[in-house]
Amino acid sequence: MMNELIKLKIDGREIEAIEGRPLVDVARENGINIPTLCHFKDIYPPLATCRICTCNINGRIDTACTTLVRDGMEVDVNSPEIADIRKAIVEMLFAEGNHNCPGCSKSGNCDLQHRGYEMGLSISRFPHLFKERPRDFGPERIYMEHNRCVLCKRCIELIKTDDGKNVFSFQNRGHQALVGIDYELEKQLSDEKVLEARDVCPVGAILVKDKSGAAPFGGRKFDLDKSLKYVPTTDLKVELPKDRKPVIATTSLAGCFGCHMSILDIDDELIDIIELVEFNKSPLTDIKKFSKRCDIGIIEGGVANNENAEVLKAFREKCDILVGLGECSIWGGLPAMRNTVDLEDCLEEAYLHSVTSEPGAKIIPRSQDIPQLFDKVYSTNDIVKIDYFIPGCPPNADHIWKVIKTVLLGEQIPIAYQEFKYD
Ligand code: SF4
Ligand code: SF4
Repeated sequence: MMNELIKLKIDGREIEAIEGRPLVDVARENGINIPTLCHFKDIYPPLATCRICTCNINGRIDTACTTLVRDGMEVDVNSPEIADIRKAIVEMLFAEGNHNCPGCSKSGNCDLQHRGYEMGLSISRFPHLFKERPRDFGPERIYMEHNRCVLCKRCIELIKTDDGKNVFSFQNRGHQALVGIDYELEKQLSDEKVLEARDVCPVGAILVKDKSGAAPFGGRKFDLDKSLKYVPTTDLKVELPKDRKPVIATTSLAGCFGCHMSILDIDDELIDIIELVEFNKSPLTDIKKFSKRCDIGIIEGGVANNENAEVLKAFREKCDILVGLGECSIWGGLPAMRNTVDLEDCLEEAYLHSVTSEPGAKIIPRSQDIPQLFDKVYSTNDIVKIDYFIPGCPPNADHIWKVIKTVLLGEQIPIAYQEFKYD
């Protein structure tokens, strides 16, 4: 019978609740966070499109948003197996779309990004698809960025004209599916409803022309959320020599050198690092060749050409542990924006048709003496095995410093939420 108080167990904790309420809400009201993405307070029945709230419910893997609580229910939210299933779902969403947080005006206000932080996600176990997806500037006020849409269906359910017509709807099927917008119906929306469309989108897929500028750091939705103090991070199990200083090498492949600048941002503590370690080949020391085997190699940048690949393979050969530093190293980052475009088109745009090209330019440099571009930018892990990753664009200096200290001192130092950044 509904409205009856029942008892259930979530992660072993006994909880009282009214029978028939959504599990995801009951858990939240009792201080247990089951992450969600498509879930929205004004939508019932729940959409259940994202599956991020997956839990083990009475021995079955199921979504918490669609489950109504019953007497005697036993729910497992945070066991390693279930947490890993949810993390894998978030990794798939990042790998399936083209998400480049540093260039996204939703950064800091984005639910998908926040789910990644909550789970301590630094790399996707699935290859990035780099699908070519359209950007639709056609509507009068809205701009659709399909690269970021997670097909959650919130906009389809919530954004309607005064006479109840859907402004957004699914188009195509299967892996070609996207959420299209009806230009004529969009014209009928009030300005407030257009802004609501932007805000119900959990990611940066619905933008409003002239009204979707990036919010300043420190004032964004998740900057203000102080509930998450630390992110879960990988346990570092690194055996370093006890009888000498560990030797570190660093390099920058296809990147902007920002990750190395972030190393320099460690500031005064760099003096401590120099006491604790010896640097070998690195742009920081200007030592250009390995003179000995190194304990740790730190790699910034992705692999865009044959020279990057050779340098990376030499690092794998000469270093016991490799650490990928920053988004370009992890999945290609900003240089990988070209992965959705044909290489020849990219070259023509860069050398012949860009705003900085000489009028009438005809030459695309192709000499064998310069590094040969690959068809796309690869992550470092596509080319050699990388042992650990530090995310961020660039990674936060405190995060880098804590990882170095964790490795050198052998004690796990927690990474604060604000230090674990993709943007
Ligand atoms: S902020 Fe969100 S929508 Fe924007 S690129 Fe990052 S994950 Fe994607
Ligand atoms: S546009 Fe935004 S709200 Fe609409 S389905 Fe895509 S992610 Fe969801």
